[in-house]
Amino acid sequence: MTSPDTPAGPAPASDDRVDLKGMTLAGIEAFLRPLGKERFRARQILKWIYQRRARTFAEMTDLSKDFRAELDRVARLSRLELVHRQGSDDGSAKLVWRLDDGLRIESVLIPEEGRLTLCVSTQVGCAMACRFCVTAKGGFTRNLTAAEIVNQVIQAQELSDRRVSNIVLMGMGEPLLNFDAVMDAVEVVQYEDGLNFSHRKITLSTVGIVPRMKELGERSPINLAVSLHGTTQAAREALMPISGRFSLEEVLEACRRFPLPQRKLITFEYILLRGINDDVEDAARLARLLRGIPAKVNLIPYNPTPLTEYRRPTDGAVREYQQALLDRGVQTSVRTTRGDDVAAACGQLGGYAQARPGRPTLPVVPAVPEG
Ligand code: SAH
Repeated sequence: MTSPDTPAGPAPASDDRVDLKGMTLAGIEAFLRPLGKERFRARQILKWIYQRRARTFAEMTDLSKDFRAELDRVARLSRLELVHRQGSDDGSAKLVWRLDDGLRIESVLIPEEGRLTLCVSTQVGCAMACRFCVTAKGGFTRNLTAAEIVNQVIQAQELSDRRVSNIVLMGMGEPLLNFDAVMDAVEVVQYEDGLNFSHRKITLSTVGIVPRMKELGERSPINLAVSLHGTTQAAREALMPISGRFSLEEVLEACRRFPLPQRKLITFEYILLRGINDDVEDAARLARLLRGIPAKVNLIPYNPTPLTEYRRPTDGAVREYQQALLDRGVQTSVRTTRGDDVAAACGQLGGYAQARPGRPTLPVVPAVPEG
């Protein structure tokens, strides 16, 4: 067995059979072709995996015995191993999964009135280095496969008695830097004779990888959320180094051009950090920046983490900031903090894996970023 401290790089294949989990219909069809199987078998297999939740090919009783045996020789259906499930006092639950190569990722189940949202990870770690985020502190290890993304959905559902109604790609990692696997996973969870998620119930959150935002718009109608966090180039770049590569203006331009299906809005996530980006002038600037974009703002009062040292504004300051946006005609909500008692709130994922002994201690980021 590989140790959890396996260095960067793709998962070593302990099993070289092809994983059919997370594979698109077209992918399964292409896989079956050299086996000389009819095309419709692909859809049959998909149904078994996602509708009937088969865990083995042996269960797929409308396939011949020989075919099932052959599938078992050349293909597999991967699963994640749940290593930790931590319920929060507020009803949300952090799920820690162990991947085949021993690495760990986290998902969060968030029950709300009338819906159950699952926040999924798309990478092990993250390369974006946002100053306020715990996931960033461990750096980037590897991309998740489509199977590892889809398995978070399937297995979180198995653990819950309510139906998972919404998926947010807002866990560990930058989804647009794992574009192909994320697009495959998003396609797979939408299959009508499978998990049957509507694109309206799926939201992808990005730091603003501009060329990929364009591609996303062309490929999929899922909801887009953009992490903004600063209202000037300098302020944003101080918090989000990636903004040096894709500037605030370029990100906003990509949003203006984003092909929005009717009645949809782009969500702008905005962390409120006390004394840094939380005064009313900031709010006025934010409202100006968003002019001409069908936008709604989701304010996220900063969630403290052991590895970052920013401060959360008072509830009063959050309300004032929200009111300043509302007064300027910007639809604005405040994200309620969920799961922070189990480090499952926004920006807190990944601390568990990093807290393992034998890992070098990580520097604490100063409250006011330099420069
Ligand atoms: N990489 C993507 C997906 C992660 S989404 C993105 O950045 O959009 C996670 C959201 O939580 C982002 O908006 C992120 O900026 C925010 N976040 C990160 N650390 C946080 C913290 N400590 N408190 C509150 N929100 C945080």
